Amino acid sequence: MTLLLLSLLLALLAAGYVVRPLVDRRDALLVDVAPGAVLDAEARRRVALASLKELEYDYLGGKLDDTDYRAQKERLSVEALAAMRAAEAVGDPAAVGDAGREAAGPDRHACGFLNPPLSRFCAGCGARLR
Ligand SMILES: [Zn+2]
Repeated sequence: MTLLLLSLLLALLAAGYVVRPLVDRRDALLVDVAPGAVLDAEARRRVALASLKELEYDYLGGKLDDTDYRAQKERLSVEALAAMRAAEAVGDPAAVGDAGREAAGPDRHACGFLNPPLSRFCAGCGARLR
């Protein structure tokens, strides 16, 4: 009888030892998840950059003509820049002000070139913007 109780106790201990990592892991996953804002900003950044890369492939593969390529590239570049700034802003609260200014849209320089928001230099003439 004692042997039966001992073997039953040993079986329960073994079962607990096997199940323990599964229970602990469930708790650990809930603790390790990053805040939603970080995940969202990072996801937007990755999607924007992947879209730009795909656009390059499509253009080089001859699926897009020059006009469509330039139009989409400008739009996706602005989106990617906004997403990258948002991802930086989530990590650095001081940058939130810059991300907020992006809502104004692209900056038009005196030379007439339309620069992405928050550009430091004009891509048309090379003049310093800020
Ligand atoms: Zn310029």
